[in-house]
Amino acid sequence: MSNSMDRLLQENLEKRRLQHLYRSRVRVDSGCSEQLSINDKLVHNFCSNDYLGLADNAVIADAFKKGIDQYGTGSGASHLINGHSKAHCDLEQQLAEFTGRPRALLFSTGYMANIGVIGALVGRSDAVLEDHLNHASLLDGGLLSRAKFQRYKHRDCIDLDKKLGASKGARKLVVTDGVFSMDGDLAPLADLADVAQKNDAWLMVDDAHGFGVLGDTGAGIVEEFNLGMQEVPVLMGTLGKAFGTYGAFVAGSEALIETLIQFSRSYIYTTAPPPAVAVATSASLELVKKDHWRRDKLNQLIARFRAGAEQIGLRLMTSNTPIQPVLMESDTQVLEANKKLLENGFMVGAIRPPTVPEGTGRLRITLSANHSEQQVDALLDALDRC
Ligand SMILES: *Cc1c(COP(=O)(O)O)cnc(C)c1O
Repeated sequence: MSNSMDRLLQENLEKRRLQHLYRSRVRVDSGCSEQLSINDKLVHNFCSNDYLGLADNAVIADAFKKGIDQYGTGSGASHLINGHSKAHCDLEQQLAEFTGRPRALLFSTGYMANIGVIGALVGRSDAVLEDHLNHASLLDGGLLSRAKFQRYKHRDCIDLDKKLGASKGARKLVVTDGVFSMDGDLAPLADLADVAQKNDAWLMVDDAHGFGVLGDTGAGIVEEFNLGMQEVPVLMGTLGKAFGTYGAFVAGSEALIETLIQFSRSYIYTTAPPPAVAVATSASLELVKKDHWRRDKLNQLIARFRAGAEQIGLRLMTSNTPIQPVLMESDTQVLEANKKLLENGFMVGAIRPPTVPEGTGRLRITLSANHSEQQVDALLDALDRC
């Protein structure tokens, strides 16, 4: 029995290898900083989502330790049993205030938030419409919800309007990434909000890559576009990227948050995250608000990288965010460039299908406020050489 299972699995794995799609993990022997220790060598880290450089911040680490002293390591149970601590409560209030919404609800991960929120808001007689390039967790959430699932063309409000107009869903939910995770471009949020409102649909935005980074105070894409709860009733953000800790949240109305507590299965049927993580995230939130220089520096580095990349003729995409993809001719070229860069001391993301559409394999370069101008220049040099 198990022999036949392994044989079948091996065949599939072999096929994936032949397609140059086989994934393997790199073992990192250090924490997430602007340099990583890999195979006893320090390499420059241009692949993490630690946009503000907070993942190894000493103030946040101290808060984390204090949180453990106060609460121990584990939460012990789900939020609906005894896992919901004062630390979670405080952080939820702080996130609500920061996003200018009545309530916020913590989830263990962004993946769980997305499948839980969509599942709680729509079901069999409803419709969910998603941008073609949405994050996998949003697509999975849409499929799991059992609502009629449709994808509209990337950033295409006309296509969305057409599909919404033809939709027979009792409830209609439009779902988009704020910043597209593999492309770095922004959703046309004001137009999406108009189209949704016109069609009596609800709009949900996943701001995993914008939260902390975009907007004057770092409150993300809704702040960048100056949109409120009226336009974007469901706002989701993550805490493991720019915030440098772990977890996710949804912010919105009283009715939305109470609905999630009652009906969101990935909220209800899982252990609450350690309270100490919430304590650490509260400290992180303070730094996000206070340290304007992190966003300013990040934007300077983004401009510097783009100017330099254009000079050496790299195929960039239209992104002004810290996500700067460089398109490659083929998936093999993605792997080769990635390997060469690593040999030269630079780690970048090697992104291939099915994470991105067929034929659009790319290096995913991400910038962080922790990087220096010299590091960015050195990366451009290395890219030029390979
Ligand atoms: C990373 C990411 C998620 C998942 O968040 P986790 O907290 O890592 O589970 C969801 N949506 C988008 C757009 C992301 O980039």
